[in-house]
Amino acid sequence: MRLLIMGPPGAGKGTQAKLIAEHYGIPAISTGDMFRAMKTADTPLAQQVREIMNSGGYVSDEITNQIVAERLAQSDCDAGFLLDGYPRTTAQVNTLDAVLDKRGTPLDVVLSLLADEDAVVARLLKRAETEGRADDNEETIRVRQHVYAEQTAPLLDVYRSRELLVEVDGLGEIDEVSERVFTALDSAVGGRDGSPVTRN
Ligand code: ADP
Repeated sequence: MRLLIMGPPGAGKGTQAKLIAEHYGIPAISTGDMFRAMKTADTPLAQQVREIMNSGGYVSDEITNQIVAERLAQSDCDAGFLLDGYPRTTAQVNTLDAVLDKRGTPLDVVLSLLADEDAVVARLLKRAETEGRADDNEETIRVRQHVYAEQTAPLLDVYRSRELLVEVDGLGEIDEVSERVFTALDSAVGGRDGSPVTRN
């Protein structure tokens, strides 16, 4: 199973990504987590990533594409993978297409978690209190929503036109949402057993 999970910041991608990955026995690859792990180092690149993330903008396509391509080349991705937070720009879509083409492993499905802006902003403000993530302050949250709407939301149409997009309501309790997610994935790719799926 090879899939993407997309949705605005605060839609619950990370939470659902972990549940899906566990279920299908595939790695959940979060570019946000990778950058958070990276940014603590004492290098110019880490400092650059830190500054971009704290501002709410996107890390450059060049850096992002490279870390994802390297990650996908690891053997635990052979049986499938879930990408969370990537691709977020048209250039990233193009690079991912090229990487997957070369491997001969197209995507099975693209899951879009729907949530309206007021709800996700409220969630992120709450997360700011409990987890203290550096980019969860009101100003940065606004920038992140704006950057998402401008650069990433249009990518949903790309996957819709490829007939890969499956949309799920991301509002509600975690269990409710994950039940919806599994139902939607079941009907999109058939079966919950994680076996290889052929799309028509
Ligand atoms: P959220 O979806 O809540 O914004 P993430 O953890 O997915 O949180 O991402 C946090 C930050 O990491 C983003 O605001 C951005 O700066 C950086 N980032 C993550 N993924 C990408 C990507 N694919 N391209 C560029 N920057 C990214």
